[in-house]
Amino acid sequence: MKNIAILGSTGSIGRNTLDVVRHFPGKFKITALAAHSNIEVLFKQIKEFHPVFVCVADKEAGISLKRRVGSKIKLFTGESGLGQIVKDKGIDKVVLAISGADALRPLLSAIDSGKEVALANKEALVIAGSIVMSRAFKKKAKIIPIDSEQSAIWQCLAGEDKNALRVIHLTASGGPLRELDKNRLKSISLKEVMKHPRWKMGKKISVDSATLMNKGLEVLEAMYLFGVGPEKIKVVIHPEAIIHSMVEFMDGTIIAQLSATDMRIPIQYALSYPERLANKLARVDFYKLQRLSFQEPDLKRFPCLRLAYQAAYDGGTAPCVLNAANEVCVEEFLRGGINFISLPGIIERVLERHKNTGKPGINDIYHADGWARQETKGLIRRMG
Ligand code: MG
Repeated sequence: MKNIAILGSTGSIGRNTLDVVRHFPGKFKITALAAHSNIEVLFKQIKEFHPVFVCVADKEAGISLKRRVGSKIKLFTGESGLGQIVKDKGIDKVVLAISGADALRPLLSAIDSGKEVALANKEALVIAGSIVMSRAFKKKAKIIPIDSEQSAIWQCLAGEDKNALRVIHLTASGGPLRELDKNRLKSISLKEVMKHPRWKMGKKISVDSATLMNKGLEVLEAMYLFGVGPEKIKVVIHPEAIIHSMVEFMDGTIIAQLSATDMRIPIQYALSYPERLANKLARVDFYKLQRLSFQEPDLKRFPCLRLAYQAAYDGGTAPCVLNAANEVCVEEFLRGGINFISLPGIIERVLERHKNTGKPGINDIYHADGWARQETKGLIRRMG
């Protein structure tokens, strides 16, 4: 029996993780649940899964939940509660499904206490990848990716000599706007952006998928997770989203990972690894599918992917600044403050104004993150 903590249990990955747990009651037990502020959903989850610990990042929401759950459950509030929960000895595996840079602190606490981490968040690796990976190595904490592409690459590389790797083919469905007329992008609505053709996801990642920044973040994430340079990561548009990524070796052999488009598949593997468990999830039917298609990404149409590659080559604090500027822009877009089409321009301006710090320590990261957020907010305000 594995005791599991889910940070971000009310989001899309969190709910899918609970669904996997629900199907394997003899394998997994929920020990801790943490959410930002959605206490209605969290309350239902508590009643069904009976965790020992609960954390609500939003203090006020936490206090009102406390009244409802009584004293049987150890309830923490605020960001610091996350760090406390992940350290508990009763927890074997931490599922990190919070979105954004806020995941970095709890990720480092989980690593420091030697926990196995099933990682769905990409921002923490993007902004502090070298620090996270070297700490995980030192503390012997395993990081198992949940993100479908990283899970695919990880599975394709299993048992292989990494020195024989020639290139990673990182697949992208292309997002909801792949075939939309270019002139329409200016007036694109929030609703259209949220309508992803293949995946049902949270708000932040839906916007990132529409700009292809999500793929850019994944390039950075793969760089750190697998210890390869950006020149060895190639993005390929694959609209059917059946191949979740491929790895090409120097002898010309390519290994791909395929499955139906259901996040519960990579989530389940991240929970059960190294074991594989039988399930009743959808299967790929090649007779129905008939063909798989591929395209080169259009960097003019999706400048965010170009910016992410640029940050990957620049290294240092550039990926952190790219991420922070993007997070602020996405929030503003969701609030209706800026147009969809203005996102890449703002991020590029912030990157241009940034003074890069090579080999950053954790404080350099937090500093660059704070600077980039202020700078981005200032730019947006002046655009008025
Ligand atoms: Mg992905």
